[in-house]
Amino acid sequence: MTECLFCKIRDGEVPADIIFEDDECLAFCDINPKAPVHFLVIPRRHIANLWDARNADEGLLGRIQLTIPKIAKEQGLDSGFRTVLNTGPGGHQEVYHIHYHVLGGGPFTGFN
Ligand code: AMP
Ligand code: ZN
Repeated sequence: MTECLFCKIRDGEVPADIIFEDDECLAFCDINPKAPVHFLVIPRRHIANLWDARNADEGLLGRIQLTIPKIAKEQGLDSGFRTVLNTGPGGHQEVYHIHYHVLGGGPFTGFN
């Protein structure tokens, strides 16, 4: 049994508004959006953060980054978007399953 919130979302044990999935990654809406469009993109495989990532994860992380603009386009972010990845306490990381925030569609609020 995993204690990781985002592994639970991946496994369907915690509900989420999933907007994209493929064999390696998953995207769902942030529960506390800081912009009109705010979603998170995670690898299916648990990696805590960039400190935890290994050379073998290079392809996976590259794949996610190349998938983000496709999801952003589906979400209507035609004029652009912000991509954020927090690492550790100093980066205000709250959930220790690596995730890219993608924000856009209007003003950002309370995003630190
Ligand atoms: P971070 O500070 O980078 O770890 O960001 C964690 C993000 O996960 C925050 O923006 C939260 O609003 C979001 N979050 C927490 N719980 C959930 C959940 N159950 N479903 C979707 N997003 C969540
Ligand atoms: Zn996890």
